[in-house]
Amino acid sequence: MSVNLLDYDGPGLTALFAALGEKAFRATQVERWIHRFGQDDFNGMTDIAKSLRQKLLAEAFIQPPPVISDKLSDDGTRKFLMDVGNGNAIETVFIPEDSRGTLCISSQAGCALDCSFCSTGKQGFNRNLTVAEIVGQLWQANRALGRDPKGERIISNVVMMGMGEPLANFDNVVSALHLMLDDNAYGLSRRRVTVSTSGIVPAIDRLREVCPVALAVSLHAATDRLRDELVPINRKYPLAELMAACQRYLKNAPRDFVTFEYVMLDGVNDSEADARSLIQLVRDVPCKFNLIPFNPFPKSPYRRSPSERIRRFADILMSVGIITTTRKTRGDDIDAACGQLAGQVRDKSRRHRTPTLMEVSS
Ligand code: SAH
Ligand code: SF4
Repeated sequence: MSVNLLDYDGPGLTALFAALGEKAFRATQVERWIHRFGQDDFNGMTDIAKSLRQKLLAEAFIQPPPVISDKLSDDGTRKFLMDVGNGNAIETVFIPEDSRGTLCISSQAGCALDCSFCSTGKQGFNRNLTVAEIVGQLWQANRALGRDPKGERIISNVVMMGMGEPLANFDNVVSALHLMLDDNAYGLSRRRVTVSTSGIVPAIDRLREVCPVALAVSLHAATDRLRDELVPINRKYPLAELMAACQRYLKNAPRDFVTFEYVMLDGVNDSEADARSLIQLVRDVPCKFNLIPFNPFPKSPYRRSPSERIRRFADILMSVGIITTTRKTRGDDIDAACGQLAGQVRDKSRRHRTPTLMEVSS
């Protein structure tokens, strides 16, 4: 056998090492080398006995998805394009802010859920990413970004808001999340790791049980009629069920609110009446709102709401005490985008301006 060690979370590595006749603490040592120190060469693992290094060289390898391009925007946003084989590439976006550095990670190549305003959805579904490809995005970005002068990692937060629906690739995403939280790997607190979902209700419940990190839900509409159209998974898990799942989630959540993402589509879901219906809809769910100005892509049928209307929408939500942020658009000069990345991935020749989505949740 020859296995990619990046595919294994802590318990997985321990089991693998047991199968190789090695003790658990050796697995932990190797896990630290790989994830804490970014080591991909067994010979560089200096406190590992030479005999074990030889064994690992024969049985295993450490291979994150290779970085194909790495672009830095004037505002510090940095976009990595990584190769996942067969002509598929995924994007990972780093967004620096004053008090944190957030990495936006992809979970699938493409997405099957086909939301009407999403370029990833419009590209169709290719495949689930492996654990190595998910956590490998963090591994690569950490290697590129490094640590600050105090020795702290530049990447302090992770959001699963890149390409794909994380909860549709449940097991691999959860193993990757476990590594993000594991003190022997990235040691992030549960509040600093956010999963964004379009609302797969049974998977929200499972996540609550196995790995309750911060939750963001892509709401986008206040009525089933409109949401059925924008987010087709709503036909299976309508709003009443989704709201109930959010309430259940909060019992285990690391934060005492759910973040609702709401894409602002001109004339579709951005009226004052829509804002008031939303307030009714979420009245029993402690939440914050994150309004996302729509990012246009070729052939998309929508336009971005004018900023005055977005401001008005935010004011109405805030007037009843709901904390509401509006994502800034950044990274325009490098076509960085988080949340609708695929347009440039499948067709790299088609360049268009797609601002980066910002301010994930505060
Ligand atoms: N599949 C997950 C996570 C990835 S998308 C989800 O749907 O939640 C991250 C966020 O970007 C989601 O809220 C998604 O609805 C939003 N998004 C997708 N396409 C967009 C676009 N063209 N403009 C603005 N936001 C978009
Ligand atoms: Fe998939 Fe999310 Fe895009 Fe919907 S918005 S198609 S769930 S990536």
